[in-house]
Amino acid sequence: MNDKFKLPARYGSGEKSVWVEYIQLAAEYKPAVNLGQGFPDYHAPEHVTKALAEITVGENPLLNQYTRGFGHPRLVQNLAKVYSPLIGRELDPFNEILVTSGAYEALFSAILGHVDKGDEVIVIEPFFDCYDFMIRSAGGVPKFIPLTPKSTGGQITSSDWVLNEKDLSSLFNSRTKMLILNTPHNPLGKVFTAQELETIANLCKKHNVLCLSDEVYEWIVYKPHKHIRIATLPGMWERTITIGSAGKTFSVTGWKTGWAYGPADLMRNLQVVHQNCVYTCCTPIQEAVARSFEFELARYNTPDCYFFSLARELVSKRDYLVKVLKENGFNPTVPDGGYFIIADWTNLENKIDLKSEADKYKDYRFTKKLAKEAGVLTIPPSAFYSEEHKHLGENFARFCFIKKDENLALTEKLLKEWNAKK
Ligand code: PMP
Ligand code: GLN
Repeated sequence: MNDKFKLPARYGSGEKSVWVEYIQLAAEYKPAVNLGQGFPDYHAPEHVTKALAEITVGENPLLNQYTRGFGHPRLVQNLAKVYSPLIGRELDPFNEILVTSGAYEALFSAILGHVDKGDEVIVIEPFFDCYDFMIRSAGGVPKFIPLTPKSTGGQITSSDWVLNEKDLSSLFNSRTKMLILNTPHNPLGKVFTAQELETIANLCKKHNVLCLSDEVYEWIVYKPHKHIRIATLPGMWERTITIGSAGKTFSVTGWKTGWAYGPADLMRNLQVVHQNCVYTCCTPIQEAVARSFEFELARYNTPDCYFFSLARELVSKRDYLVKVLKENGFNPTVPDGGYFIIADWTNLENKIDLKSEADKYKDYRFTKKLAKEAGVLTIPPSAFYSEEHKHLGENFARFCFIKKDENLALTEKLLKEWNAKK
């Protein structure tokens, strides 16, 4: 009986989830500040939430019913309007864009739709943890390559985390089907440069490999860095699927609406997965996201446009948290994009008794202690590494800074008090 109903082996890598564990930890210990899972603790722009409120009770009853399976027409048309000028080609809203249940489902449909048994997929570490599970459940074989920090002697930033080109090129072979890129990067905040993207693109072209580009943090980039879409590099459109998220774009992570865009022949595989598992996504939310894009497109060239104001708002939060972390014994990597900071905590190791936690990896033990003793919840980055490279994440904790200023100030107070007691 037991054996018959055990979890199929292809799902084994997903049994332990850092999100399930740390959200449970938050519920249990009620830390005073939650800088763990990435979501804002304050309101999205008013026009975004108002749009949804109006739609659900508005004149058109059909906006609460099923809509087109591959994406609500008003939303795909707006996505085409947003992205066409950014990628320098006219996107066909009905054949080159798929709306999904969050960026998660876009990743799922792309990986399940393209990766076959035995196909190899190159994954850059640290990586958003579900990539590994999705590749393996498709029967694929992930091949990992870590970004490693250059020693700078001074302040380290996310651009100091780099790939070894030789190691990267040695991973490509005739079995390689796909490379997954994430820029701006979670959890490092790295914004890949034109040169780095060119190296990746050249290898993908040389070995006829698909690039799955997870760009959910595309609007959260700090000056002078610029987000470059790898699909715009010469010869890359035809081999790239790009992923975005309304949750990140409009600070509504609970709306779980995302999308993928790319050439129609590649998108067809995603449509097949989507039409047989989700079929169609939530209509009122898609309509609200469409209206939100229209609102922002109308003020695109003004400083108020949320696509640009969000990063301006976040940069001071980033700088404040970097300062707080430094003053309290951490060594943070300053991110060029996204809303996470990776901070090395090893200078604090002698202040904390890690033996009372049972976890295998030190960062799990440290983050649990910090949550329980200081009341500050963070995420252990070894969750974003393959089994063989988990040690590379063990000296760090990930802090999310898209939080109210008062909660960042509370973080400062809690870390100071905790440090003083030690
Ligand atoms: N990719 C990355 C890199 C992420 O950080 C996240 C988390 N939001 C996702 C994909 C999934 O996004 P969504 O919430 O839209 O499913
Ligand atoms: N992307 C978010 C993060 O990295 C949320 C992840 C999740 O809830 N699974 O924190």
